Amino acid sequence: METYSLEAIPSGRLEHLGGSVGMWIDIDQIPEGGLKLEFQEPPNILEFEETGVRVSGLVSVACHIQKYKGTIFVRGNISTILEMECGRCLENFPYRLESELEVDYQPAHREDSEEEVVLEDNDLLAIYYTGQEINLTEAVRDQIVLEVPIQPICLEECRGLCPTCGTNLNIAPCHCAREEINPRWEALKNLKDLRK
Ligand SMILES: [Zn+2]
Ligand SMILES: [Zn+2]
Repeated sequence: METYSLEAIPSGRLEHLGGSVGMWIDIDQIPEGGLKLEFQEPPNILEFEETGVRVSGLVSVACHIQKYKGTIFVRGNISTILEMECGRCLENFPYRLESELEVDYQPAHREDSEEEVVLEDNDLLAIYYTGQEINLTEAVRDQIVLEVPIQPICLEECRGLCPTCGTNLNIAPCHCAREEINPRWEALKNLKDLRK
């Protein structure tokens, strides 16, 4: 198996690829046994304006690429750091996002048009490509958007905000009278109340 990294190619690649920034795969470079590729790109390679996702670390992608009858199979992992707001204390914190990447690129024009392409997995993202190069960037961005947690928590033991005075209880305690209720006991209590 051959391994090469676009990282190793100096920025001249941008000119070579017509000035388009992205995680490019040159289809002609994929040998029989597949190809391992690694990318490390600055956060600004991904545009998230519509989604509000903020990437604050390098976007690392390691993948294995295979070509079969014109279809390009990409399997790998994405890791990066997102700037997220804690669902409990509302402070921003760096969230480490790790995700699998699984995407198939099918040629927009098939030479063997009689043959139906059957996808084994409905969850697969199938994208059509034209030309000799594939830009992985969009698939990586879409996958990151899918994996963004809805209510991330800065720390498992984050104490959140006092519901009465709004103090961030991680930083300082407050003097509001508050009953500490463990949600499990709460559920049990409700159950007992029901039986009465
Ligand atoms: Zn928090
Ligand atoms: Zn308080």
